[in-house]
Amino acid sequence: MSSPPAAPAAAQRPGECPWPVCGQLAPIAVLVEVRGEPSELARPVGCWCVGHAVIVGVAEQARQGGKLWYGPRSAAGHAHLAAARN
Ligand SMILES: [Zn+2]
Repeated sequence: MSSPPAAPAAAQRPGECPWPVCGQLAPIAVLVEVRGEPSELARPVGCWCVGHAVIVGVAEQARQGGKLWYGPRSAAGHAHLAAARN
């Protein structure tokens, strides 16, 4: 299994999942807290389609060690707008 990209590709078209050759709509913002940091500083991991949001979120959570958050696109970068998922 190849590891997911750490951040959305620069070529991401608005509203589309940045996963290579995915191209689906990306309505899900993923944020991961960095262990020891307040949730307001959760690291945005971009916007993804539903399936890739889970893959990217879990991989990034393993890297950062903090809580994983999913939210609507409008919540990207704002942990307080996203719902905690663990
Ligand atoms: Zn996708």
